[in-house]
Amino acid sequence: MKKLIVVFVSMLLLAACTQDATSEKPKESATNNEGKTEQNESSEDKNAKDETETEVEATNEKVKVEPQYKINPGNWSIEPIAEANSKVVLLTIDDAPDKHALEMAKTLKKLDAKAIFFVNGHFLDTPEEQETLKQIHDLGFLIGNHTYSHSTLSDLSEEEQKKEIVSLSDTVESIIGERPKFFRAPFGDNTDFSKQIVSNQKMSLMNWTYGYDWEKDFQTGEAIADIMVNSPYLTDGANLLMHDREWTNEGLETIVNGLREKGYEILDPNLIQTPEA
Ligand SMILES: [Zn+2]
Repeated sequence: MKKLIVVFVSMLLLAACTQDATSEKPKESATNNEGKTEQNESSEDKNAKDETETEVEATNEKVKVEPQYKINPGNWSIEPIAEANSKVVLLTIDDAPDKHALEMAKTLKKLDAKAIFFVNGHFLDTPEEQETLKQIHDLGFLIGNHTYSHSTLSDLSEEEQKKEIVSLSDTVESIIGERPKFFRAPFGDNTDFSKQIVSNQKMSLMNWTYGYDWEKDFQTGEAIADIMVNSPYLTDGANLLMHDREWTNEGLETIVNGLREKGYEILDPNLIQTPEA
């Protein structure tokens, strides 16, 4: 009997070590939103007779967040799965990390607003750029895949499309230790083949519902803030597209405050359902 207990405890230990080695993610992935974190099952075996062998506690601290939202693939809005608040908007920042993404991340962090930063590989070539990505991730933001070089996927061969997508996920993983869970094609141009790659890579495909910061009329902080908050497309679950741009950076705080004043919660993208890795 004692032998059995020793074997059991050793297995627990082994499991705990393996777990630690592979899950060095920041634990804080679902703040504020009382996302139901699964209770760790305490495998502490109180009836073990020999006390020296019960020191092992199941230190499985990996926080598993129950998805509360899903992407509507018909219009790219975000929908509650069950009882979750439907009056939410998702913030996304594309073409990062160029000149303003880090400052944007800091602004959002200050406002306690979450977002996804969709990044490109050509902004991650140097150690400085890689450090910037790491800082954005460390501030608590999800990193999405926006292809390596921001090419129009339908202009590329299948081999090139695959490289555009997979090589960037490899690069991101090498910098922050995890692969992107969301994919957004440049210009929203997905092909049947690229969708397959995205699926194979266990990513969720995501376009957006509205955005304006590439249009001439909205290239001041004031103008972009005004339209993002007062757009006729602002609805429950709206998926807001913004970019790493000077004017969007300038207007960002006003955008977040304006959306909140209208009663919208800024959604934590960690709560969106993604394919199981
Ligand atoms: Zn883009």
